[in-house]
Amino acid sequence: MRVLIVGAGIAGLSAARALKLKGVACELVERREQPPTAGAGIFLLGNASRALGDLGLLDGLKSLAYPITAQRILSSSGTVLNDVRTAEVWEHCGPCLSLSRQSLTGILQRSLDPGTVTYGVEAISTVSSGEKRMVRFSDGQEKDYDLVIGAAGVNSPLRNATFGPDAARQIGITCWRTVVQNNGEIDTWTAMLGHGRTLLGIPISERETYIYADCSSTEFGDGSIEVLKSLFRGFAGPLGPIVANLDPTARMHCAPLQEVRMQRWIADRHVLIGDAAHASSPSMAQGAGMAIEDAVVLAELVSRGGPIERILEQFHENRISRIEWVQTKSRSRDKLRSGSSALRNVVLRLFGDALYRRTYEPLTRPLLS
Ligand SMILES: Cc1cc2nc3c(=O)[nH]c(=O)nc-3n(C[C@H](O)[C@H](O)[C@H](O)COP(=O)(O)OP(=O)(O)OC[C@H]3O[C@@H](n4cnc5c(N)ncnc54)[C@H](O)[C@@H]3O)c2cc1C
Repeated sequence: MRVLIVGAGIAGLSAARALKLKGVACELVERREQPPTAGAGIFLLGNASRALGDLGLLDGLKSLAYPITAQRILSSSGTVLNDVRTAEVWEHCGPCLSLSRQSLTGILQRSLDPGTVTYGVEAISTVSSGEKRMVRFSDGQEKDYDLVIGAAGVNSPLRNATFGPDAARQIGITCWRTVVQNNGEIDTWTAMLGHGRTLLGIPISERETYIYADCSSTEFGDGSIEVLKSLFRGFAGPLGPIVANLDPTARMHCAPLQEVRMQRWIADRHVLIGDAAHASSPSMAQGAGMAIEDAVVLAELVSRGGPIERILEQFHENRISRIEWVQTKSRSRDKLRSGSSALRNVVLRLFGDALYRRTYEPLTRPLLS
């Protein structure tokens, strides 16, 4: 079977690794000239680390990651609203871990045979051509494949041609991300909620803490560090002072949050995975988890054999309920975050643990029967 993966982000690299483990060779094209050399942090819940375990990468991951055993939510004034022992919820699934994005993509890249990824080549278009799928590339080549896996991210250029009008939309929240020195004050996943504003700090190593901040896109202005500081000026410790003391030249990643809502991600010999199919707001920290799970499930179904159409139908059937769950719950969390602060704080104090369990427990169930 001739397989092409478009995009060497977390989804595409995971798919290549999963297929390799099943003995299925693939080509992977990435339009960037080289792997990313910068990026902030990423938080992986137990289902994501379990899926990385299925890819044979859990030990490597643990050696580079920081273990997160609790998720703590504070009000902007520093009062603890909820403190969930995450290790208990994910005990039978996988560990919750945080690390730098580069470390995660590095683990995935190193797990592939050298030369698997062709950098600096973009897939321009793809059309169904008889029993194959033809892909046109930026270097002028045209090739036929039995299966094209679109892992080209939230703004996937190939999605619209096959799957209709653009399914990506901005959700009205814009964020900043950076990494600061770990001063020991943030010892676990710690969020602080203000009125329509969220601050998050996650240790990603003994030396570094990942900082995430968001606000309504209308407040984001030019996205400068001055705007960030002024919006979070009223936030108490432990996160407020970190933002207040940010170096004005700190490297900052800014992005409007987007989601992709699609009913189906499969077409004739073409399947979308990861953000290309179902990007969500990061409020459940499930984007990477869903992308890696997609890869594990798809490779397993491919390895079981049968006509491609049936494999893709099975893939869709397997994934749809988990993806819809994550998207629905991510939206509810965004709504809770941006609603009345007083009501939200009461809900989190009284029902925070139960809400956490109800949200995440379905994701601890096995991926495939
Ligand atoms: C602010 C923020 C915070 C987040 N935090 C978390 C978190 O803590 N935990 C978590 O699990 N998830 C998190 N996520 C989500 C997670 O980052 C994404 O779900 C994940 O990175 C998606 O990976 P991907 O491979 O699908 O897409 P991408 O990472 O976007 O990769 C797509 C790749 O395809 C390439 N490409 C695009 N078009 C083409 C083409 N035509 N030809 C060739 N190559 C192409 C691109 O260059 C890119 O390298 C967060 C997201 C955001 C926005």
